[in-house]
Amino acid sequence: MLDVILIPALADNYIHLVHDRESGVVGVVDPAEVEPVEAELARRGWRLTHILNTHHHADHTAGNEELKRKWRVPVIGPGADRDRIPAIDEAYGEGDTFRFGDRPVRVFDTPGHTRGHIAFWFEDAGALFSGDTLFSLGCGRLFEGRPDQMWDSLSKLRALPPETRVYCGHEYTASNGRFALSIDPDNTALKARMAEVQLLRADGQPTLPSTIALERAANPFLRADDPDLAAAVGLAGAAPAEVLGEIRRRKDHFRA
Ligand code: ZN
Ligand code: FE
Repeated sequence: MLDVILIPALADNYIHLVHDRESGVVGVVDPAEVEPVEAELARRGWRLTHILNTHHHADHTAGNEELKRKWRVPVIGPGADRDRIPAIDEAYGEGDTFRFGDRPVRVFDTPGHTRGHIAFWFEDAGALFSGDTLFSLGCGRLFEGRPDQMWDSLSKLRALPPETRVYCGHEYTASNGRFALSIDPDNTALKARMAEVQLLRADGQPTLPSTIALERAANPFLRADDPDLAAAVGLAGAAPAEVLGEIRRRKDHFRA
């Protein structure tokens, strides 16, 4: 059994604590801050054993050095960005697998938001940590990559089993959904998801985890190869990467 605890951090980040009940190992995914991680570890009586980073941005790595110093645990991150991950010990990329307790964790290269970005798939537990590549109802901004790279990255994640739970790096679901509805207003899966999101947020609850099935149905960035969505953004017949680029450009300028 794998427990995943969401820790809200900074304005809208999530730090994820991952606890394997069989072996007792505990990983922290993208520690933006130290204090809330320490508080949660103390509350549960858990000892940290791994630090995992999806990408180099400070809102995902700022806690690395202090947590590593205190717990003397390895920092695991993207090989393509090893020079920008504070205190990195183990660098991984596409197709690599490492062990977390007795579980295999599979790594995907998912560039686009940053040059080196990885996602962690805990295959036997059905959990994906997607960082700032795949958000619920959205995707990361293209700071260091191109639309075709993001499309390739999202296509890998989209191919995971539909029941896979998706844990991403930010609580952006409501604003992502408002944008998604602006280009895909008749999508019933999207409308149902947004109704659920509004209830959760009104109650102060996270909208995560999502699932691959839900995102495939409702997330416009995973649907850039859908002819209806291409037509809706004026790009009927265009390649998916081009459609994704247009949707991302519109999202960058969307205000609602
Ligand atoms: Zn980021
Ligand atoms: Fe971020």
